[in-house]
Amino acid sequence: MADLIEQYNSVVPVDQNYTYELLATVIDNLVAKYPYIEMGTIGRSVMGKDIYYLKLGKGTREVCYNASFHANENITTPVLLRFAEQLMEQYVAGDTVLGVYPRLLFEQFSLYLIPMVNPDGVDLVNGALTEGEYYSRAKSIGQQYPQISFPTGWKANIEGVDLNLQFPAGWENAKQIKFAQGYTKPAPRDYVGVAPLIAPESRAMYDFTIDHNFELILAYHTQGEVIYWKYLNYEPENSKRIAEYFGRVSGYTVEQTPIASGYAGYKDWFIESYDRPGYTIEAGLGINPLPMSQFEKIYRDNIGILLGGMTELP
Ligand SMILES: [Zn+2]
Repeated sequence: MADLIEQYNSVVPVDQNYTYELLATVIDNLVAKYPYIEMGTIGRSVMGKDIYYLKLGKGTREVCYNASFHANENITTPVLLRFAEQLMEQYVAGDTVLGVYPRLLFEQFSLYLIPMVNPDGVDLVNGALTEGEYYSRAKSIGQQYPQISFPTGWKANIEGVDLNLQFPAGWENAKQIKFAQGYTKPAPRDYVGVAPLIAPESRAMYDFTIDHNFELILAYHTQGEVIYWKYLNYEPENSKRIAEYFGRVSGYTVEQTPIASGYAGYKDWFIESYDRPGYTIEAGLGINPLPMSQFEKIYRDNIGILLGGMTELP
């Protein structure tokens, strides 16, 4: 299994925290090395940063994996980048990733990876944003929630809206629950916003999703080593079986979403809108942001899920 991580020629560093700048550099290097990868943007953040996507494969069947919806869960960004790199390495070599030929995947599927949904928030957490108007406003939001450490406890976008509470699937319920918990205004986490889809990052995910025909989505978060697969009583075909498969190959627990966080998330909206399998993967264990020293274990645990998101579809 050593070759999952240790590559002499890797252009995806896994020993440093990802900022937007590092992400942009790594994407440039990946695409330069593997022109087969298509890159583009799904929209822009509040501060005008590109929200990048990578597309691997030419197939007619589409799946979409995303990471770093939540600012301090950004160890998930290199998980997707390393996955892209590993697929390409083995594609070029004509070899397999854990028995799966990328060439065969790429004939059937178009795999869309969105490695950093929340670039402004990630930069705040990882120390790449330490001054200016946006930083000052975020800091004053943080000061109103002294129980949440700043900036490491920050999950929201730079304006204090939780991007994963912005989707039109039980948004009013999410609002009631989060307001009752005291998140009634912009906050480091758990503020639903004044209306669904007002945060440009969530809007971009929404628009990109409705412009495609995704058969399955994975939303990468940290932490808890848990896989959430349900929204209310929806039970899309194959969804439970694939969740159990994901649990077996990762060692993660498969659970129903707790009621307090059971609404207005991206996967909730995807399941409600399409009645297709959608998963929140809570990778890793500890206190967010998880240190990069956990990367190797997280990647090893998740490689079967990342492959299974395609190979387990009927
Ligand atoms: Zn999260």
